[in-house]
Amino acid sequence: MGMGYDIICTNPKCRYHTSLYSGSGFRYPDVYNEILQKAKDGLISDAHTQFFIEHPNGIVNAEDKIYECQECAHLFSEPSLDMYIPKEIEEDIPSEAKWSIAFPADGTDYVTSSEWSYHYKLFKRHPHFCPNCGGKAKVKRKIERVTEKCPLCGSTLQAVSMLWD
Ligand SMILES: [Zn+2]
Ligand SMILES: [Zn+2]
Repeated sequence: MGMGYDIICTNPKCRYHTSLYSGSGFRYPDVYNEILQKAKDGLISDAHTQFFIEHPNGIVNAEDKIYECQECAHLFSEPSLDMYIPKEIEEDIPSEAKWSIAFPADGTDYVTSSEWSYHYKLFKRHPHFCPNCGGKAKVKRKIERVTEKCPLCGSTLQAVSMLWD
């Protein structure tokens, strides 16, 4: 399951259109296994290579997230790659509590399953950089207004939210 946005140009003569994704979507678990393997093989970053040496039980979050460049406002989506380590499990937590951890009330922080967030905790965030200008990018949970202009015609862009299974 996931959510995302269609970013469309408001100029009726322009056909610019792109999609941003957040969540795992239909590509799990293939993408997850592929990314985990790459990270373990040292193909993602030195931080990930080091992480798996120190934490062989660690996992990376392979779900897509939407990022916004802090320099040029460019929006893009790519796998989070944040690093997680197993946490000590406290026994006797009622199943309701597990569910509330897995699915936060605001519904924005999508997680794969109750198991996942129950057993793992964040170790280190993976930094993201804009593919256009190299600027630092931040996670964008909700797009209210698109500041970025259409790369084809310079008009205002509009975000339409969508959901998929
Ligand atoms: Zn940028
Ligand atoms: Zn346009």
